Amino acid sequence: MIALYPGSFDPITYGHLDIIERASLMFDELVVAILNNPQKQPTFDAVQRQQQIELAIAHLTNTRVTHFPGLTVDCARQHKAQVIIRGLRVLSDFEHELQMAHTNKTLAAEIETIFLATSNEYSFLSSSAVREIARLGGPIAHLVPTHVITDLKAIWA
Ligand code: ADP
Repeated sequence: MIALYPGSFDPITYGHLDIIERASLMFDELVVAILNNPQKQPTFDAVQRQQQIELAIAHLTNTRVTHFPGLTVDCARQHKAQVIIRGLRVLSDFEHELQMAHTNKTLAAEIETIFLATSNEYSFLSSSAVREIARLGGPIAHLVPTHVITDLKAIWA
């Protein structure tokens, strides 16, 4: 079975990577899909984010990355994914995620959304927090891979 893990990944964090590694064990193939979130103006363009993810998942043989300009369900169909993976951190994620899962179900009844609970140590971690800490010169080595630190420093150095 093929699964799609969609998100902004602006940039990829160890929280995302934890979900990717766990999902890659559960499915034959995993496609990480960089999609546009209309509520968010990205810091990194899609090509940069794709490179960041590719480097971070180089050790996973059944996982690849794509970016897609349209609907999540259309991306899933293009990759023949029957499952959409989303991560849940805190209760406040739940309402929005459930609404999206229901909406996607109305658009594509054949595709299921599966939620993976964050690992405890990453429950506080978000790309926006990483960007903010980096912008203010704080330590982020425990939050994102080394090459992402380099990219963040290039913006705010
Ligand atoms: P989006 O804009 O689509 O929410 P994000 O990159 O913020 O994109 O998140 C992509 C997915 O990864 C979402 O399902 C989000 O809940 C999940 N996620 C983000 N950070 C973490 C984390 N620290 N632990 C687990 N899941 C996470």
